[in-house]
Amino acid sequence: KFNTNLGQHILKNPLVAQGIVDKAGIKPSDIVLEVGPGTGNLTVRILEQARKVVAVEMDPRMAAELTKRVHGTPQQKKLEILLGDFMKTELPYFDVCISNTPYQISSPLVFKLLNQPRPPRVSILMFQREFALRLLARPGDSLYCRLSANVQMWANVTHIMKVGKNNFRPPPQVESSVVRIEVKNPRPNIDFNEWDGLLRIVFVRKNKTIAAGFKSNNVLEILEKNYKTFLATNDDAMVDDKASMTDVVKSKIEQVLTETGFSDKRASKLDQTDFLKLLYAFHQVGIHFA
Ligand code: SAM
Repeated sequence: KFNTNLGQHILKNPLVAQGIVDKAGIKPSDIVLEVGPGTGNLTVRILEQARKVVAVEMDPRMAAELTKRVHGTPQQKKLEILLGDFMKTELPYFDVCISNTPYQISSPLVFKLLNQPRPPRVSILMFQREFALRLLARPGDSLYCRLSANVQMWANVTHIMKVGKNNFRPPPQVESSVVRIEVKNPRPNIDFNEWDGLLRIVFVRKNKTIAAGFKSNNVLEILEKNYKTFLATNDDAMVDDKASMTDVVKSKIEQVLTETGFSDKRASKLDQTDFLKLLYAFHQVGIHFA
C-alpha cells in the first residue's frame, strides 16, 4: 500500500504527531506549509491551530485520502492541497513549515526553505537521525561538514526530539530526529553562491589542509574563469599583461592563504567566522567563487 520510494512512512504515534505540531508555536493567524502530508496525521492537527494549511503532496492517492479525511469537517476550507513534487512547486507565502520529510529530498528541502524570498519564521522538520546530526554538528564534531557550515550560516538549528523507527508504518531502516530551523532575520549580507562556492572547495576533503583543496585543477580553472569575469566588469582592476592568468590566480590564492594563516588549517575544525575571514580576504584580491 505504501510507496517507500516516495519515503512513505506514516507517523502512527499520536503523541509524537501532536508533539511536532505543538513545537511549531503556531499562531491562529498563521499559514502553515506542510511537505508530504500523506494520510494527514500531522495535517489534521495543524488545521486545528492555523488559519490555513498548504500541503504539497506528490502522490495522488495520498492527496485523495487526505481530501476524504477532512471532507465535511469545519477544517475543510482551511486546507489547500498542491498536488506535485515539492521541489518543483512554486510556494506561496507561509509563516511556518512542518514536514515529516521524505528523506530523499532532505537537503534540497532545507535549502529551498532557506532561500525563500520571505522565509518561514520557524520550520519543524523530521529527518533521518544522521542528517539531523549533520545539521547540528559544530567544528571538530565528526559529522561536521559543508551542510553544517552552510545551514548554520543562514539559520539557527536546534534538536527537538528523537523519534524511533517503530513510531512509523512501515518502520524505516533508520532512526529519526525532529529539528527546529529558524532562519536568521535579517539575512546575513553575504552572497549565497559565493559562500557555498568557498565551502564546496574547502570541504571536498574536510580533513586535508585548506591549501590542498585549492590545488585541484578543476578549482583553479573555475577561479581563473571567475577572475576574468571580475576583471572584465571592474574598470579599476589592475592587469599585469606579462604574467599568465593562471599564475596570477595561483599567486593570489597563495597570498591569501598565507596572510590569513589558513593554509595548513583543516575545514573540519574551522567555524563560520574563519570561513567569512577567508571569503573576505579572497574578495579583497578579486578572487570570486561564483
Ligand atoms: N506527513 C505524513 C506523516 O507524517 O504521516 C507522511 C510522511 S511520509 C514520510 C512522506 C510523504 O511525502 C509521503 O506522503 C510521500 O508521498 C510524500 N512525498 C515524497 N516525495 C515528495 C515530494 N518530492 N514532494 C511532495 N511530497 C512528497
